Amino acid sequence: MEITNITGHLLLLMAPSGSGKKSIIDSVLVSHRDIYFAKTYTTRDIREGVEENPLYMFTSKEHFQEMIDNEELIEWAEFSGNFYGTPKSEVIEPLQKGKVVFKEMELQGVKQIKELVPDSNRTIVYIDAGDWQNLEKRIVGRAPISAEHLELRRQRFEEECQFQGDADIIIRNHDGELSAAVEHMDHIVMGIVESVKK
Ligand code: 5GP
Repeated sequence: MEITNITGHLLLLMAPSGSGKKSIIDSVLVSHRDIYFAKTYTTRDIREGVEENPLYMFTSKEHFQEMIDNEELIEWAEFSGNFYGTPKSEVIEPLQKGKVVFKEMELQGVKQIKELVPDSNRTIVYIDAGDWQNLEKRIVGRAPISAEHLELRRQRFEEECQFQGDADIIIRNHDGELSAAVEHMDHIVMGIVESVKK
């Protein structure tokens, strides 16, 4: 059932593994103190030696299951053998208070949110970072990953690519295009912030 009384706007960022998502989110975090950054609960391990996503809360499978059972999550998904989900309180309340809410999310979560948040109150942005060969290089170079998990990420990439046409805005971030991609994201956020003020 759709959430009512929303006066804010939800900005969902869908980005395949290795697409440069972290750099883009980091830049939004630094430049846009005026928006609300919704947190993720995840059961995946922290990547050793890698500066982790400040919006992630790492937890156990048991705790995650408890949150599902208690209906605390607005959406959740299994991705590459781990669970990821968004607490209701991180999205519903801020949206009803008129805030611009920023959230990264994979495809299954985006599909759930589409049923809950009216079209006029959300924007879905997809990062196009080129073909799988390119992404694979970046993922393997970032942190150790098993062949099995790499294959799961490849499969999800194929699915997400097909969803691209359903996104409202596509940001291009092929090799060498990061600063343009960051700038594009910045414009998108500014546009949404302005439209919510009106
Ligand atoms: P990673 O393990 O690479 O940090 O994230 C794996 C995938 O989970 C990415 O596509 C990321 O955007 C997505 N993700 C992060 N937080 C959430 C969330 O709260 N819910 C859902 N459904 N996906 C998320």
